[in-house]
Amino acid sequence: MSKKKVQKFYLVKGFKDILPEDQPYWEFLRKKCFNVAKSYGYERIDLPILEDSKLFVKGVGNLTDVVSKEMFSFETLGKERVSLRPEGTAGAVRAYIEHGMMNRKKPVKLFYMGPMFRYDKPQAGRYRQFYQFGLEIFAGDEPIIDSQMIYMVYQFFDELKIPIIVKINSIGCPKCREKFLKVLKDYLKKNKSKLCKDCQLRYNKNVLRILDCKEKKCKEIIQESPQILDHLCEDCNKHFVKTLEYLEDSQINYELDPFVVRGLDYYNRTTFEVVPTEEFAGGEISAQGALAGGGRYDYLVKSLGGQNTPAIGVAFGMDRIVNALKKIKDLEIPSINSSDIFVAQLGDKARKKVLALFEKLRRAGFSVSESISKTSLGQQLEEANRLKTKLALIIGEKELLDKTILIRDMESGSQEVVPENKIESVLETRLKSLDINVKKTRIRN
Ligand code: AMP
Repeated sequence: MSKKKVQKFYLVKGFKDILPEDQPYWEFLRKKCFNVAKSYGYERIDLPILEDSKLFVKGVGNLTDVVSKEMFSFETLGKERVSLRPEGTAGAVRAYIEHGMMNRKKPVKLFYMGPMFRYDKPQAGRYRQFYQFGLEIFAGDEPIIDSQMIYMVYQFFDELKIPIIVKINSIGCPKCREKFLKVLKDYLKKNKSKLCKDCQLRYNKNVLRILDCKEKKCKEIIQESPQILDHLCEDCNKHFVKTLEYLEDSQINYELDPFVVRGLDYYNRTTFEVVPTEEFAGGEISAQGALAGGGRYDYLVKSLGGQNTPAIGVAFGMDRIVNALKKIKDLEIPSINSSDIFVAQLGDKARKKVLALFEKLRRAGFSVSESISKTSLGQQLEEANRLKTKLALIIGEKELLDKTILIRDMESGSQEVVPENKIESVLETRLKSLDINVKKTRIRN
């Protein structure tokens, strides 16, 4: 027989699997995200992964890197031109308009969580599919909203024990930015040939983005460039000063950074980015180090066909936050596979009984696990230990005959025999005495 080589398959470049061993971190982070969103009054919205490509071209901007170079775009069988979403704000705005959310009680606060796709150069912390948790507030241009959002972002990382700095800037409104761009172009003109290739193109198409370039030679030129904060109009300046004033009182760790211009076109006024402290990051903080970013986008709703609606949003990079969480030594990440009770058996007849017992307890809402395929009691108890089980229920021949169940405390090793018809009430009492909130455990009820 000829041995045919079977083709093996691998991940597509820039994509990754999130394996079971990493899931506790993700579960922990997701819960924190849901918690913060709920406590600040955000409502969940699930947006599709696929949108009309034009939404991003118009919303994010066709001259941005994200749209011009990084979108996964294709034509459907029905000849629609669609893209995998590279970010969440444009979709959230589309949904806000499409579902008439401007008629809801203001402000409308939405949050989303899910995968984003960018055909970016894969490297550490930069993937082609990555996950974002995003928050958007529609209606309201008061600076207190900007401050509160930045404050909330800071508290979020503080709770996660990730030491961060919030870098804040204002990129003004279309009017003052227009004037600033002329000043910036004048300054860059003499050094144009020294800029990287991308920035030479940006010079004509999107000059502001040059300020955000991470190339060493561009950074050197930009270092001395005029700053937008010195060119804000009176209203934008007032807005920025007020935003900072509120933050000053809240004593969070922030710094002004005139280079935080963000990669997407829809921003105006306040922009911010969150980076881990240098000490935590263990060296220079690179662009790949940003853990979250956001800002105001007062003109986006109108430009996508809605009413004039000032808005502000933030997106957290969940993959990078998980990477950061892994670096924290004293962080306790709850195991997601642990259970309070383990059912074990000795012998084939007992196995049938244990199968039914497992189902009965599971349906009653207890956190219970088993390893029914194993025959040795030792191996079963080993598994119970691995799952950090508090109580093991053991049924052998004697228990079968007596219609009893042996309860073993996995920590102390003490054992108790109880009639099988009393098992549920005994377990409740025992778990309560171990300080386990049985009601909370009984989540399925
Ligand atoms: P942005 O939408 O570019 O403002 O990104 C918001 C956050 O998403 C960033 O601060 C990162 O934490 C994360 N992020 C953006 N692009 C990627 C990527 N290619 N891979 C992993 N995380 C990303």
